[in-house]
Amino acid sequence: MSAQIISGKELAARIRTELAQKIKNHSSENMPVLAVVLVGDDDASKIYVRNKQKAAAEVGIGCEIMEFSASIGENALLDVIDDLNANPHINGIIVQLPLPAHINSLRVLSRINPAKDVDGFSPYNTGLLSYNHPDAFISATPKGILELLLSTGINLEGKSAVVIGRSNIVGKPVAMLLTNRNCTVTLTHSKTKDLPAIVKTADIVVAACGKARMIKAEWLKEGAVVIDVGINRIDGKLCGDVDFEAAKEKASFITPVPGGVGPMTVAMLLSNTFEAFCRQEKDPISGNKHHNCGCGHCCH
Ligand code: NDP
Repeated sequence: MSAQIISGKELAARIRTELAQKIKNHSSENMPVLAVVLVGDDDASKIYVRNKQKAAAEVGIGCEIMEFSASIGENALLDVIDDLNANPHINGIIVQLPLPAHINSLRVLSRINPAKDVDGFSPYNTGLLSYNHPDAFISATPKGILELLLSTGINLEGKSAVVIGRSNIVGKPVAMLLTNRNCTVTLTHSKTKDLPAIVKTADIVVAACGKARMIKAEWLKEGAVVIDVGINRIDGKLCGDVDFEAAKEKASFITPVPGGVGPMTVAMLLSNTFEAFCRQEKDPISGNKHHNCGCGHCCH
């Protein structure tokens, strides 16, 4: 029997509608505002940023895009982050990745006030996630993946999950999230031996290796739930990391590409921004100070 298709497009649209309603009902003089820092001329990054801005406007979140030339120095960029940290009108800050090679991304991401780190990429929020702490801002793609899994209604507890890819922005946080949900997780990567045999053990497969249609139907356990994070192109056409057409005959649930994880990422980012706004309304100080970075500029 063919798998049920998990439509991220529909789920994300529902989440955005509910979020727009929540923001409308929220009694406040201010609107949530997200600042997006964009460095360089990467066309894909520009498209992603415009999409975020459009989606933010639709739910009632302001979005300020700050564009800088690829030649901006690291210290100048850190000053930009410090100013945004100190600005009480900015509730969330994201830095569009990748940054130019001469800039240390970790240093820049670490400089974002954790209370405004709505992408959840700072070591502080990643640390909170590893503690399964409720205050963690969980990065948008992993959070979207969890929502897609929960939308199937399956009980995650005790399930065997195999995550393919160990990047800091997808694979590792997904592995942590699923561990926190009591899955038994195997995190795999390019040096993993006999990946097909490991995938065969999985009740849940999260494919995030960025290799077009690499995960074959015959690797899957009958009835596995498959989340395909990959965004690849073959002959100009978008496809995921899973060989979708064959895999949907083996899986019980599967996400398509496009229309699966992608739309969830933006919805989760907006939901994190509203969450940051609400937290800062309750505790304005946390939103306007840095975490003792010692720079003498942003710390109060
Ligand atoms: P990275 O390139 O940072 O990481 C890829 C990971 O896959 C690495 O850990 C790598 O292993 C592993 N890998 C590569 N080849 C193999 C292989 N043959 N077998 C097993 N593991 C392998 O990618 P990202 O995590 O940033 O993204 C992954 C995919 O998800 C991409 O297609 C990207 O476009 C997409 N993506 C989609 C998003 C969305 O919103 N839908 C958001 C973010 C990403 P190693 O560590 O050993 O090199």
